[in-house]
Amino acid sequence: MLLPRHRALDHLQSLLRGGAPGLLGDRLEPRHDGTVRRIPTDRDAVDARWSAIAPDGAPDRALLDERARALAPAFARNIENYVGALTVPVGVAGPVRVNGSHAAGDYVVPLATTEAALVASINRGASVITASGGCAAVTTNELVSRAPGFAFATLRDAGAFVLWVLDAIPHLRHVTESTTRHGRLADVRVSLEGNHVYLVFDFHTGDASGQNMVTIATQAICAYIADASPVPPLYGFLEANHSGDKKASAQSFTSGRGRSVTAEVHVPRALVLERLHTTPEMLARYFTISAIGGVLSGTIGVQGHYANALAALYLATGQDVACVAESAVGVTRLEATADGLYAAVTLPNLLVGTVGGGTGLPAQRACLATMGLAGEGHASALAEVCAAVALAGELSITAALCAGEFATAHARFARGTPAAVPTAPVVFAGAAPSDPVALAEAEASHA
Ligand code: NAP
Repeated sequence: MLLPRHRALDHLQSLLRGGAPGLLGDRLEPRHDGTVRRIPTDRDAVDARWSAIAPDGAPDRALLDERARALAPAFARNIENYVGALTVPVGVAGPVRVNGSHAAGDYVVPLATTEAALVASINRGASVITASGGCAAVTTNELVSRAPGFAFATLRDAGAFVLWVLDAIPHLRHVTESTTRHGRLADVRVSLEGNHVYLVFDFHTGDASGQNMVTIATQAICAYIADASPVPPLYGFLEANHSGDKKASAQSFTSGRGRSVTAEVHVPRALVLERLHTTPEMLARYFTISAIGGVLSGTIGVQGHYANALAALYLATGQDVACVAESAVGVTRLEATADGLYAAVTLPNLLVGTVGGGTGLPAQRACLATMGLAGEGHASALAEVCAAVALAGELSITAALCAGEFATAHARFARGTPAAVPTAPVVFAGAAPSDPVALAEAEASHA
């Protein structure tokens, strides 16, 4: 991380020599004062853990009430060192109409968040999509990767190993299927770097998001490699950071990890004016300036705020929320057309499932069930709903920025004080942003 020279100087001076000399003192030195508290790790030791962490040794009922105690067995495979449960509010947005390759219908989408304005914003975008006849959505890919890395003495050994592995793929498929009923090894990609080999295994994972499934299968493959390879690696690791797991990467952006979905909607001009309070032309202008802003700041892909929609939907439906790190990359495109607005989102890395992980927990399953997406057979439909919700979020935030409503919406929902925010014009000369019809006329006269 690069700091401008003056900021580094100012900051370090204030810490090391500033107002209070020796401000840091020995704060950064290792401490061995024998006062480390031990947290009991037995599954059922909930009260013992509270004794260890609470000043008075008693559970705080805000975390551990009767309901949280009763839920403890349900969480047994989802949490260690359990001390209670948080309440995260769930709101619904929609219905959003999805005309998808897997999703079909009007989905009322549960969103778990403590962020004001988020549900209202996605609700508005969803209503625009539905009033436009729905969004089309297609799942274009479905593969989860795991990428072990192996070291050899020489590049020649590494190359010989790769030749052997590529020949062994049919057997690696059998090894995979010995660990899972639903997982399938689809393919292997290879990266050779000096005497290191990365094998990127791509698996179909059925209706599970699949991270455990591919980890267990890859472990079995690595065990087979250790036994059978005529060129034994000096050492190897189950995951060598070439899969894109839980991080935004250019590789996942271009080749996809999890489910890849692209979705589009055509919004009639009248609907843009009435519900989004702006014009297709202004939305397209915003798209241009924000896309270039994304390029200038070095984002992977170009989009407004997929993470907002995905984090709330992942949390509500029992997905691994950390996967938002990789899922929230993609591309949004907005264009003004003769009839209105064309909008598309493309999300290559949706790590979602409708079985496994947290999807079977009571509240999370209830959220999936409200959409008719609980259990087997629904993972790709859920991925397409994720894309539709991301599209709704993109439409709404872009419109809010175009109509000058972004700050006031947050002031209204989060603080209850919209009037405290001064109105800032979006168009500095000509039509007022608060009058979408006049704005549309001004746009038309410029055309
Ligand atoms: P999982 O709950 O570990 O496994 C899914 C289970 O569902 C398997 O036992 C599978 O059986 C079964 N299953 C039943 N019907 C299925 C169907 N139609 N399609 C697919 N599977 C079906 O979940 P996972 O999806 O593999 O892993 C997700 C979890 O892994 C998340 O909670 C995530 O946080 C966590 N995670 C793990 C790692 C890791 O490296 N271990 C990394 C990141 C995240 P079969 O296997 O017999 O098919």
